[in-house]
Amino acid sequence: MEKVIACCGLDCATCDARIATLANDDELRVQTAEKWKVQFSPDITSGMINCTGCREPGAKFSHCGECEIRNCVKTKGFETCADCEKLEGCVLLKNIHQYVPEALANLKSLN
Ligand code: SF4
Ligand code: SF4
Repeated sequence: MEKVIACCGLDCATCDARIATLANDDELRVQTAEKWKVQFSPDITSGMINCTGCREPGAKFSHCGECEIRNCVKTKGFETCADCEKLEGCVLLKNIHQYVPEALANLKSLN
């Protein structure tokens, strides 16, 4: 599967919200909301599961639309954090890259 690399380096191509959105799959929206309720917030509903990907035009899942990293990248006029000299020391990226090292590798692969 071709990667769709987000500003932070996560691969949106593997995200169930994007897969459900592109396929307009309501059953997957319900399953994703149930999973994310436990993982992220009890307030997540299946109606919120709409996202075309961090850097693609179209709908954004609520958190991703307000994401501090995404906003930082946009404000600086970058495509992703791969364009930033702070890539390896950035406090905003630290948590994500600590748990998903592949995200840093994805960003490095862009340079
Ligand atoms: S931007 Fe959208 S597709 Fe990418 S990780 Fe966030 S919810 Fe998933
Ligand atoms: S400071 Fe640089 S590396 Fe950190 S979030 Fe902003 S653009 Fe990304």
